[in-house]
Amino acid sequence: MREVTPHVELVRYTPDAEAVVASAAKLCYAADTADILQQEPESASRFVARLKQMGHMSPIEHIVFTFYIEGVSRAMSHQLVRHRLASYSQRSQRYVDHDGFDYVVPPQLAGHTVQTLDGPMDAPEYFAETMEIIAARYSHLNDALGRSGEQSNEDARYVLPNACETKLFVTMNARELLHFLEQRLCRRAQWEIRQVADIMLRLVREVCPAVFSGAGPKCIGHGGCPEGKMGCGRHAEMLQLYTATTDERQAKTQCHD
Ligand SMILES: Cc1cc2nc3c(=O)[nH]c(=O)nc-3n(C[C@H](O)[C@H](O)[C@H](O)COP(=O)(O)OP(=O)(O)OC[C@H]3O[C@@H](n4cnc5c(N)ncnc54)[C@H](O)[C@@H]3O)c2cc1C
Repeated sequence: MREVTPHVELVRYTPDAEAVVASAAKLCYAADTADILQQEPESASRFVARLKQMGHMSPIEHIVFTFYIEGVSRAMSHQLVRHRLASYSQRSQRYVDHDGFDYVVPPQLAGHTVQTLDGPMDAPEYFAETMEIIAARYSHLNDALGRSGEQSNEDARYVLPNACETKLFVTMNARELLHFLEQRLCRRAQWEIRQVADIMLRLVREVCPAVFSGAGPKCIGHGGCPEGKMGCGRHAEMLQLYTATTDERQAKTQCHD
């Protein structure tokens, strides 16, 4: 068992993504379609930027991005899979036994103390001990159920915690990805999914800058937080963070989280 942190890889994405978007959009207006499939990268990027300005978003649905994500909790993945216009494959807790599972520890536990019957204990230590206890119970239950693989795993898993590590493949088209980023980079979103969203944005900006420039929490596109009093009050800071270059943003994000 060990504590893990998010690892996100951009496994595949549509080749010549911005040219694909430009071709698709230009087709809508072209009487002569002969040159539609040939788009110069630079003019394609400029065209994509214009499309976004105009809010003509359906052509960017033609490009897709597939991520491999590991080192995240079931608490995080439960939120991720609420995004319905994406495709998922997740490691099963039925087909794969979870003896000695890895887990995610909320960093906010650091510095806190739990009052136990035996006296005070550091919260992260208490958390790790709880994981060990759950893992032992999981294992005993799996034994009691006959350790028959899928059948015993499927019932023993009921004691597994939200912190339990999971691994997923996720594929989103660019429009859905922008929507996901708007929601999950918001300071009101939960810290772990925000961390994952931040890495995803960094990865796609490297390969598809015109589509993902200006991407960020929803306050960026709205010119302020649409949630009014519920907002975090940090619009200016978010604007600075998400319009910064990747390197600048990475440095600032590390300071924030
Ligand atoms: C800060 C935060 C707090 C949250 N708290 C809660 C909570 O307490 N409880 C809870 O249950 N959820 C909560 N959620 C999840 C939230 O309600 C959404 O389920 C999730 O964010 C997915 O958003 P979505 O439906 O817009 O996106 P997606 O499923 O990714 O869909 C993208 C867009 O496609 C369109 N669309 C998709 N499916 C349909 C459909 N069936 N009909 C019509 N249009 C559709 C919509 O325009 C939608 O915005 C929270 C999310 C955030 C970011």
